[in-house]
Amino acid sequence: MVHIGGMETRLDRFAVARNDLAVPHPSGKLVCVACAHRCKLAEGGRGVCLVRSRHGDALTVPWGYTAGVAVDPIEKKPFFHFLPGARALSFGMLGCDMHCAYCQNWFTSQALRDDRATGRALPATPEALVAAARDHGCAVVTSTYNEPLITAEWSRDVFVQAREAGMRTTFVSNGHATAEVLDYLAPVLDACKVDLKSFDAGSYQSLGGKLQAVLDTIRGLVARGIWVEVLTLLVPGFNDSDTELRAIAAFIVATSPEIPWHVTAFHPDYRMTDPPPTPAATLQRAAAIGRDTGLRFVYAGNLPGRTGNLEDTRCPSCGATVVRRTGFTVHESLVTPGGTCPSCHAALPGLWSPGGTVRPPAPTASRP
Ligand code: SF4
Ligand code: SF4
Repeated sequence: MVHIGGMETRLDRFAVARNDLAVPHPSGKLVCVACAHRCKLAEGGRGVCLVRSRHGDALTVPWGYTAGVAVDPIEKKPFFHFLPGARALSFGMLGCDMHCAYCQNWFTSQALRDDRATGRALPATPEALVAAARDHGCAVVTSTYNEPLITAEWSRDVFVQAREAGMRTTFVSNGHATAEVLDYLAPVLDACKVDLKSFDAGSYQSLGGKLQAVLDTIRGLVARGIWVEVLTLLVPGFNDSDTELRAIAAFIVATSPEIPWHVTAFHPDYRMTDPPPTPAATLQRAAAIGRDTGLRFVYAGNLPGRTGNLEDTRCPSCGATVVRRTGFTVHESLVTPGGTCPSCHAALPGLWSPGGTVRPPAPTASRP
């Protein structure tokens, strides 16, 4: 059990004063720009995320611990166009700026809000995390599990070390960001998975976030040349209508039709236990909508082997299957190290070899 008071005491060891993402406000308050809540904090004030607070002229922010570290296949994040088959040293902390009723990581993300959450903080350093990544043969270091935006300073410090060790860096985020935090992370961030949970502002509000902020983040990542993949967890009755799926797909196409869209299956979890698990047919319907709308890459997730070829990557130019997958397992990747289709030589967006260069999704506005 984790209490805010007790957690505050224990997490005092794992907090530092930083001004990286604090902006003075004419009222005398400090604005935290780590996420789209933009909390205005008076002395001693704590943000919506509960992990950041103001003391004097600085913010006290989490640093120097993890609440979970694992070596995951990069497909689990999921990234399907970013070093297929690579290992990702994945680390998380505690807390989130949203409170999704279906959160599958609620035991860490909601650790400061929910007494039932059991997340625990263990000491860590950027050097130790990067050394662990090296020891386990990881090409990628990933900030994930809880919401990494709210601990952006820690992620950035880890990523600086990871980059120096020749590794790539990724975020698994709800995308509830600001332009300031994207600018802050851009120099050290290679790729970001963003949840686009709904296309309804009211639904987003019920989860504790703002739809427009997430849309701005997706566009902002593309504009900054950061590789982005978008994920929508399809919850029956919440966000799986044809109308909403078309709206999501149309937004992505209008940003770049080359952004991969993952439509994944919900299973009852945490506080959302009423909707049934998402059937495979719903993922297939969403994928058909995505492709009809103009998306080049749509993937089905969480139902391995049950959605036909929707886990594979096909070349949009010639139709050849270039990566075959089941779940998180890559059976075969035929993309050339230079990132081209082996059959027709078309360039494929993403990063396909450790020494390669990211080919970002072409923004729609700049397409011929
Ligand atoms: S990270 Fe977001 S929720 Fe937390 S203090 Fe900053 S603006 Fe507020
Ligand atoms: S944004 Fe992600 S981590 Fe946060 S509560 Fe929602 S699903 Fe969980």
